[in-house]
Amino acid sequence: MPLRPYIVGNWKMHGTRAMLSEARAIDRAAQRHMKVEVAIAPPSTLIHPVHREAEQIVVGAQDCHDQESGAHTGEISATMLADAGAKFVILGHSERRQGQGEGDALVQAKAEAALAAGLRVILCCGESEKTRDSGSALTYVKKQLKASLPEIPRGAAEKLTVAYEPIWAIGTGKTATPADIGEMHAEIRALLVELFGEEEGAEVRILYGGSVKPENAGEILNVPEVGGALVGGASLTADSFMGIALAAGETEEG
Ligand code: PEP
Repeated sequence: MPLRPYIVGNWKMHGTRAMLSEARAIDRAAQRHMKVEVAIAPPSTLIHPVHREAEQIVVGAQDCHDQESGAHTGEISATMLADAGAKFVILGHSERRQGQGEGDALVQAKAEAALAAGLRVILCCGESEKTRDSGSALTYVKKQLKASLPEIPRGAAEKLTVAYEPIWAIGTGKTATPADIGEMHAEIRALLVELFGEEEGAEVRILYGGSVKPENAGEILNVPEVGGALVGGASLTADSFMGIALAAGETEEG
């Protein structure tokens, strides 16, 4: 059975408690769109408050440490996120790979720590504009993904989601063409099947991320192998975020 479209909001470093009303509005609207799985990853300070109030949406985190506990000032472990109510964590986002210098091995270690703590993982990958222009985007993304993917215990592939996010499309208003998205997602699917086998490899959802908005969501979400969207800017208001969820509900899978 096809999985429900998965629409995930990444609030990044946006949101104080004043944003809880927006989370409530998203939750209320999600109750009317049960064909779509709606989730948000607010800043860590809001995970518990959103979790306490949410009836429908799933709450997650934007990063975790690769150790369970220890002398790591300022860090948060996957176990702590799960304790606060998080059900998933976004890992390997390009803003962390670039801004915090996170490499593939660290992303992989974090993903393994997250799975061990019972969290689902959204693992991000994507190429820069220079790599896309040089014609090596497919090779680059597959290599990055292969080196970042965690070991998955048998039967647990549905705990993993991959998000393809071309760096040049994040927050820029530019989006990849449906043809380029389709080509990349097909390659990612083939890699997942090669690594996890036919059945489990098919269970991993592949999201697209990069300037998804209500206006372009329908076209993007109808591309084969696009199982949903990872949304930054347009997830900050219930109106625009749920516009995307509405488009997801109208796709063939939704
Ligand atoms: C993101 O940061 O994951 C993202 C997709 O951002 P935006 O939707 O703003 O491009």
